[in-house]
Amino acid sequence: MADKRYNAFSEELKRLFGCRVHRISVDAGFTCPNRDGTVGTGGCIYCGGEGSGSYGIARNLPVAAQLEDGKEVMVRKYKAKKFIAYFQAYSNTYAPVERLAALYDEALAVEDIVGLIVGTRPDCLPPATLDLLAEYARRSWFWLELGLQSTHDRTLQAINRGHDFAAFTEAMERCRERGIRVCAHVIIGLPGETREEILATAGILDGLKVDGVKLHLLHVMRGTMLAQMYGRGEISVMERDDYVGLVCDFLELLDPRISIQRLTGDGGRDLVAPLWSLAKFEVLNAIDQELERRGSRQGSALGRSTF
Ligand code: SF4
Repeated sequence: MADKRYNAFSEELKRLFGCRVHRISVDAGFTCPNRDGTVGTGGCIYCGGEGSGSYGIARNLPVAAQLEDGKEVMVRKYKAKKFIAYFQAYSNTYAPVERLAALYDEALAVEDIVGLIVGTRPDCLPPATLDLLAEYARRSWFWLELGLQSTHDRTLQAINRGHDFAAFTEAMERCRERGIRVCAHVIIGLPGETREEILATAGILDGLKVDGVKLHLLHVMRGTMLAQMYGRGEISVMERDDYVGLVCDFLELLDPRISIQRLTGDGGRDLVAPLWSLAKFEVLNAIDQELERRGSRQGSALGRSTF
């Protein structure tokens, strides 16, 4: 029985590798079809143009050097011993397979890197790329992260994702056929999306039997289209208690088998709002306390809460 009331990814990693495993984000110099004109040019409305979530990564260094730098920091801070290379910035399958293989191999060759996580868009997975990823899934510890954000096409259009929900379900299907584990990214608090719609996304992901979920709070970041909308008063951001409650509701609707890989992020130096999210550990503690108060766990609402 895990300490958490949800199937925390960090616990799974500890069980598997025998110690805490640290993710090191790398920026391998990819671009994104939703920025370079292939699908669109403006990008998702919340993306700062450096690739979502990639703030602070040293893009100009080779992948191995980025990993060595990251390791050095983590060893100093946490006496860390094992690491995962996290291809996070932009769309990390958006290149010919030869280049992808060279970059992934470069990462796996770094000492104490025990696996790979590759983040991408569901529309960036041609068959040859999927076959390559399947090879990594067979011979290494591997997860694919797919940006979904919402299962509702109206929302996906409003945030300018440049793909629809069907693109995600197709990608999921192709990954499943090849034995690639998929973690879906979802953003809570997207403009115009109701509580019922957000929770419908939980039910749909449960039905699709995704392997993992990452929940993000909608962050308004400096320099984004979303920041302009926020400045004009066209959108609002979530209050902390509402977010905590919704995350708990969401977890209760997911099968306990689904690995929970993130429940919030801290936004970093370019965060405009909501500033309460900077206290990331307070938010995580509040989620734990709320589940405890409710006496519920991941999967409770489905009557499947044992893990
Ligand atoms: S898919 Fe990712 S990198 Fe591309 S515009 Fe959206 S958030 Fe930015």
